[in-house]
Amino acid sequence: MPTVQEEPTTDTEVLARHQMSTYTRPPVLFERGRGSWLWDREDKRFLDFTSGIAVNALGHCDPEIVRAIADQAGRLSHASNLFHTEAASLLAGELCAASFADRAFFCNSGAEANEAAVKIARKHARAVHGPGKDEIVAFRGSFHGRTAAALSLTDREAYQAPFRPLVPGVAFAPFGDLEAAGSVIGPRTCAVFVEPVQGEGGVRVASPDFLRGLRELCDRHGALLVFDEVQCGLGRTGRLWAHQHSGVEPHLMTLAKALGGGLPLGAVLAAAEVAEVLQPGDHATTFGGGPVPCQAARVVLGRVAEPGFLAYVEAMGHLLRHRLGEIGGAGIVEVRGLGLMLGVELDRAVQPLVDRARDRGLLVLSAGPKVLRLLPPLNVLADEVDRALEVLAEVLRTGSGSC
Ligand SMILES: *Cc1c(COP(=O)(O)O)cnc(C)c1O
Repeated sequence: MPTVQEEPTTDTEVLARHQMSTYTRPPVLFERGRGSWLWDREDKRFLDFTSGIAVNALGHCDPEIVRAIADQAGRLSHASNLFHTEAASLLAGELCAASFADRAFFCNSGAEANEAAVKIARKHARAVHGPGKDEIVAFRGSFHGRTAAALSLTDREAYQAPFRPLVPGVAFAPFGDLEAAGSVIGPRTCAVFVEPVQGEGGVRVASPDFLRGLRELCDRHGALLVFDEVQCGLGRTGRLWAHQHSGVEPHLMTLAKALGGGLPLGAVLAAAEVAEVLQPGDHATTFGGGPVPCQAARVVLGRVAEPGFLAYVEAMGHLLRHRLGEIGGAGIVEVRGLGLMLGVELDRAVQPLVDRARDRGLLVLSAGPKVLRLLPPLNVLADEVDRALEVLAEVLRTGSGSC
């Protein structure tokens, strides 16, 4: 007989009892957040340099987002995609005005956005070039999500192995190697998926030349270039879109994470000639683009797209890098990234460091076995950066030399 938990508890064994074991969660129970800070049930405060994995771009419980959510939830929370709602229509227009795109499709997550992009790419190739042009190229170190097609594009053996057979027709090329990509992308390729800055794969920035070369290869072979900006988009790198650092535009772009201001929302943005291949009945979602997440997203986009805001992200990114440089040595091999999406490659395993930082009240992420990943809220304060780096310097120094 299943036991029902009746009393509030912080016992992680009790908390985990009836949830599937898909995560190794530390013994912390968060109850509330504000700005760059989270509080647990014992009222201990944590500085959050994870932003809920790049989701809480404006920090926790931003008052304008809270108001937008409450207002919309009090008027209409769901009507289904069988009908028009103003929120989705306005958000689509605002995303298109702020990007290369003419049309948006809304869904609920990054993986779903990539699933939709796969379907658009395959249908587009079939409609324009006929059957047989169905191969997709992705890159070493990629992460595109955990659903079937998204997982098939994700270069992580441990994530894929238990679930084979995956979606067929996917080939991988080395990230950053244009010549090798040129030998994989060909007449049968319908789409090339790339993260302008790889996140989970270790915070690796694609060079402008690499992205430009991919666009040329795609144009030559009639393939669609898909930028997965689920993590690096929406101001994270100091530009509204990460691809703006290169000046290269994609045919499709996928978004999620920060988009919904903490609520689940994903999007695929497309140029008109690509978007038109999706006709009524081709693709659908019950929840995608609901009025509540869309109103939250309108606040996020409006605030993040302001030039002053993006300049602030850039300035905080420089400060963070500068402070990391001051720590020097202490096992740091390399600092990579753009804006407030930084990876610190270490000479040793990163997980013990993540745990020690959390014990000292700082939340940070890993990206692979040896890379520390910093994703603070985009409106993080300078003294919060200083505080975080004090803790990091401390845990790096105490951990240095040991394994
Ligand atoms: C997180 C992530 C995804 C998957 O998003 P979910 O919302 O977890 O499905 C896809 N692509 C990139 C680059 C991501 O960082």
